[in-house]
Amino acid sequence: MAKLSGIDFTLETTVGHSVGTLMSKVLEQQAQLADQRINQNLLTELVEQFVRSERQLAVAHAAVLAMSRTDGLTGIANRRWFDESLAQELARAVRSKTRVGLLLMDIDCFKLFNDNYGHSAGDDCLRAVAQEVQSIVKRPPDLTARYGGEELVCILPDTDDSGVEAVGNAILDAVRGLAIPHAFSKAIDIITLSIGGVSLIPNEGTTPKQMIEAADAQLYVSKESGRNRLTMAS
Ligand code: GH3
Ligand code: MG
Ligand code: MG
Repeated sequence: MAKLSGIDFTLETTVGHSVGTLMSKVLEQQAQLADQRINQNLLTELVEQFVRSERQLAVAHAAVLAMSRTDGLTGIANRRWFDESLAQELARAVRSKTRVGLLLMDIDCFKLFNDNYGHSAGDDCLRAVAQEVQSIVKRPPDLTARYGGEELVCILPDTDDSGVEAVGNAILDAVRGLAIPHAFSKAIDIITLSIGGVSLIPNEGTTPKQMIEAADAQLYVSKESGRNRLTMAS
């Protein structure tokens, strides 16, 4: 009966409706109320479904983003992520007048490793080296990436020469520590890296390319002077 309380019987009767008509009006309004309840349930379900879809989309988006920035073989950051990060770090360092360190490294005699132990062993080796380097370089703003083929790179924000040198030497030690046999290397009989390092305070005109070239020049010196070493830009 509570549902009938909102209906104005007096008004309805004065305009001449029969009780039967009134009853059918009441039933009609009850049906409308029931419809509204159904609509409300549908709406609630729709909103819940929408929120669920939004969440799934956000998770999928994060996964796609992570995939687009990750190297498929090694699981570390890829070249695209590195390019974005170095540009960002340089811009940040210009604003804050701080240093940016960079280590460019290359596996020694890797072609000979592939030729003698097989490409699949080469892939395993590359993966192990990349993971090892990443485990050494672990300050939050640091980034380890695969630069290309068997070349890796580390961005070390806010790190001076001695810091870059220390990280570079720790990487050399750690990779030697893996003790992956390489009987055909021109350096020693295990997998080693050659590294070029640089640390600089960038100005407005400093480009990522300049910084990479500076590290690459030192990497070349490391290769030329016997591999399995780090050379720092003076
Ligand atoms: P160096 O000490 O002068 O660097 O000699 P290197 O043999 O390492 O250099 P080189 O540039 O002659 O050869 C690089 C080799 O790295 C050849 C290529 O097959 C191998 N390589 C590059 N990317 C991959 C990869 O994803 N997987 C494997 N297995 N090998 C790779
Ligand atoms: Mg190379
Ligand atoms: Mg090499």
